[in-house]
Amino acid sequence: MNLESLYQEIILNHYKNPNGKVASVDSPDAVHHVNPSCGDEITLAVEMLDGQAHIIFNNVGCSISQASASVMFDLCESQSVSKIMEIEDSFLELMQSRGQGIADDELLGDAIAFVGVSQFPARIKCALLPYMALKDAISREIEGVSK
Ligand code: ZN
Repeated sequence: MNLESLYQEIILNHYKNPNGKVASVDSPDAVHHVNPSCGDEITLAVEMLDGQAHIIFNNVGCSISQASASVMFDLCESQSVSKIMEIEDSFLELMQSRGQGIADDELLGDAIAFVGVSQFPARIKCALLPYMALKDAISREIEGVSK
């Protein structure tokens, strides 16, 4: 099996068996993000407990956006905010790599499978959607805690 097929299989597996997805997100702090160019939507809430982020989400949309949300959950669940920001930065860098990948990818886990997506500008937004929602939810959660 070549690398490209392996990556496609990783994405397909996350799409079929998503991690972190719940039937509905019932939280007043939930954020809702949409990617109008593809029709992807995600509702996501994060709760900080002892410095660790606990994430739930519900989403609809294409296989890329749904698989990306599952991988994002695997990477970021129970991590600190600073670790999550490092992961977000690495994934953003991967998405901007035009298919080349990045040198320092040890934080990315299964997210490295999305390297092929970075060649298609229209699909990059699909892959980034869950990360944008998580970043937004965390900043709201942190602001809420400091009040
Ligand atoms: Zn999409």
